[in-house]
Amino acid sequence: MTFYYQHHRMFIYKEAGIRGAWKQWFICSLLSLLHGVISETTRTLDIMTKYPLIDGHNDLALRLRIIYNNKLNLINMHNIPHVATDISRLTAGHVGGQVFAAYVLCTAQDKDAVRLTLEQIDVIRRVCTENPELELVTTAEGMRNSTKITCLISVEGGHSIDSSLPALRMFYQLGVRSMALTHTCNTPWAESSSSFYRFYQRKNNSLTEFGKAVVKEMNRLGMLVDLSHSSWETARAVLNHSTAPVIFSHSSAYTICNNTRNVPDDLLLRLKENGGLIMVNFYRSFVACSNIPTVSVVADHFDHIKLVIGTESIGIGADFDGAQGFPEGLEDVSKYPALIEELISRNWSEEELAGVLRLNFLRVFQKVEKVRDEMQYTLPSEVEIPFLEANNSCRVILTNPVRYDSSYRNGKTSLVPVRAIAWFIILLIQLL
Ligand SMILES: [Zn+2]
Repeated sequence: MTFYYQHHRMFIYKEAGIRGAWKQWFICSLLSLLHGVISETTRTLDIMTKYPLIDGHNDLALRLRIIYNNKLNLINMHNIPHVATDISRLTAGHVGGQVFAAYVLCTAQDKDAVRLTLEQIDVIRRVCTENPELELVTTAEGMRNSTKITCLISVEGGHSIDSSLPALRMFYQLGVRSMALTHTCNTPWAESSSSFYRFYQRKNNSLTEFGKAVVKEMNRLGMLVDLSHSSWETARAVLNHSTAPVIFSHSSAYTICNNTRNVPDDLLLRLKENGGLIMVNFYRSFVACSNIPTVSVVADHFDHIKLVIGTESIGIGADFDGAQGFPEGLEDVSKYPALIEELISRNWSEEELAGVLRLNFLRVFQKVEKVRDEMQYTLPSEVEIPFLEANNSCRVILTNPVRYDSSYRNGKTSLVPVRAIAWFIILLIQLL
């Protein structure tokens, strides 16, 4: 009986010991897991406070046009319903700089695209100058040193300049520092990744002579050449031609999601050679072609690009307000920390994240400005697009129409009518 009692007690102690060990293991695991989560969250906030994010592409201005008809006086910029971007959420998301797109629909091409672009530039300028938390900047230094949320203006789509280098220069004067060569439509001089619109279809002509002149003029001015939305052939042609680094302001990795808006590995390698930047897009159709879009799938794009070209060519261009449908946990501009935390859990170092968050963009912008300085003695380009390449009913011809006969197709001015008149006068004199 005693034996049984003692044995039973031992059994109870043994049971209690095992249970205690399990309990202890469970609590320890939970604590270490919690510690990991807390320390990753703390590290995320610490890194994002030190290196506030510069995001390469945001379409708030488009939403302000569609939903509010640009009536800023009716909007509280700290809390704007039906959009993904406002000052409160930019602050919560640790955003230190935002490239805002002045975008007008492709259907405005050859119509009132220039006016509409001016109106979009106006609304961005107003947003960024009428709110004390924001600051409109035009230089890399201004962006680097500001303690506010800086705004940089980009034009999204070459149709906005109506094939005019003087129009491009005037956009620069208004503060535009970046331009995507196309949106979802071809321009008369560059090709889009989309064939949705049938405008200006050409064969084997991804960047025309005038397109090269646009790129050179952007290099001369110090404007970032943005290849998001361009066809891969156009992107390759630009990479052959640009003397400054270029960016993909909101594109992801084609190997992870095979959408033509994304960048294939061979182009990534060319981009690295060029010293440029790919800023990863969060839009679900560009990050998860077949998977369910999640923060983790977005992080897969970062891991892949890192594997192919390293972290120095990577940034973030989420495309908020430019599309409907973002992964759960990355729905608006307050959610960037979720991605950074995911990258930390994948062993991305502070140095790598500092680059992704802001330093890579600043380096590229600064290099673009350096190329501008090196070209300071190059005169503004007076290249005009050949009339027949941009012929449309809304284009008024102000110069002598003699220039525009059929031989102008070759880019040469025809003297045939002048010669004919001269021969006629000589003949008349001889007859007299
Ligand atoms: Zn876009």
